[in-house]
Amino acid sequence: MLSIINLNKSYGKVKVVNDLSLQIDAGEIYGLLGANGAGKTTTINMICNLIKADSGQIKINNQPISAATKKLIGIAPQENLLYKTLTCAENLNFFATIYGLDKKTRQQQIQSTLAAVNLLDRAKSPVETLSGGMQRRLNIAVALVHQPKLVILDEPTAGLDIEARYEIWELIWQLKKQGITVLLTTHLLDEAERLCNKIGILKHGKMLAEGSLAALRNIIPAAEILVIQTTQEAEAIACAQAHGFTPKRYANELAFWLPEPLELPEIIARFAGIKIDAIARQNVRLEHIYLEVTQKN
Ligand code: ATP
Repeated sequence: MLSIINLNKSYGKVKVVNDLSLQIDAGEIYGLLGANGAGKTTTINMICNLIKADSGQIKINNQPISAATKKLIGIAPQENLLYKTLTCAENLNFFATIYGLDKKTRQQQIQSTLAAVNLLDRAKSPVETLSGGMQRRLNIAVALVHQPKLVILDEPTAGLDIEARYEIWELIWQLKKQGITVLLTTHLLDEAERLCNKIGILKHGKMLAEGSLAALRNIIPAAEILVIQTTQEAEAIACAQAHGFTPKRYANELAFWLPEPLELPEIIARFAGIKIDAIARQNVRLEHIYLEVTQKN
């Protein structure tokens, strides 16, 4: 569906997208992750033909991006693209007109898109009267109104409460069910973990790691992660290393990669003679993989 090959973009002397390649197959939900300034929005802007790449190729359905491929894409940018004093239906009508939909198609699409984002009962409400979550859903509706094949969602749940986030996740799953391809950016790693079939991790415009979550898990050669609290950290680290555990720090917590799954009594036995105040076992999560990849590079 979307193929990016050796894409480059610099502003002055700063390379903000650096030899970036990625491939998104039809029907996938692809999560592009990276810290602030990693180059996610710049990449999206190039896919949407809003800014020009210095070099490299972007193809949608095997066609180089152009005014024609624009219609295959729907974008919900980070900042809501809505007219606050217009109603939901009026906003959609405006964007559907820009995409060249005729009046009858516009009317049908406004109804079906409002239904898809669960805002049909707010069709006549001005945007300024909607909650933040509703406005985000309407912003996504704008991306859907012309029935694109690829939907790009730039931080679709940023700043939303958990219920509003769930509603947007549900909407994204519905898009996948309809066979629509989704490219999303997020800083929420649990969100990417739940939604995405494929994940790409960007830093300084470079793709550091890419693949399914299962494939990315191979980056961390651990069966599980052990987090412990102890006042005898140096002794605990020495002891754990003697048993083949790899020490790590996650947000100042002392953790160890366990090379094989162990029962709790076996773990405690490995720390014999050390006073452990608390112990927790965790599965390897995207958060651990993300930190591993971005800190190493
Ligand atoms: P965020 O998560 O904060 O949205 P991002 O990964 O989307 O970040 P970009 O917005 O693509 O990052 O920015 C990448 C880099 O390019 C940043 O250092 C930014 O300051 C720089 N940049 C973006 N647009 C321009 C511009 N028009 N002129 C100069 N520098 C720019």
